[in-house]
Amino acid sequence: MKINNSLDVARWESLDCKCGKEVIDSFPIKDCLHCSFDQRWKSVPQKDFTIKEPEMKNDKPTGKTITREIKKITLHRGDRYQDVIGWSY
Ligand SMILES: [Zn+2]
Repeated sequence: MKINNSLDVARWESLDCKCGKEVIDSFPIKDCLHCSFDQRWKSVPQKDFTIKEPEMKNDKPTGKTITREIKKITLHRGDRYQDVIGWSY
């Protein structure tokens, strides 16, 4: 998997974790930017995956489904903390 727009160290990674040890397993994580950004980063696929999509011909679906392998995604990041706000392929 190739991940465009990945960083060695994003700005949010230097934020301190504000979770106490006793709440670290509780969900949802409140008031801790570090952990919420960390969770979002971990939800990004790190390995190739396949999707099924309708086959198109001249902008019309043919009625068939094809399988496409996704080997590259692009991350979208917030301006302030460089946190992952989404990704696309
Ligand atoms: Zn935390």
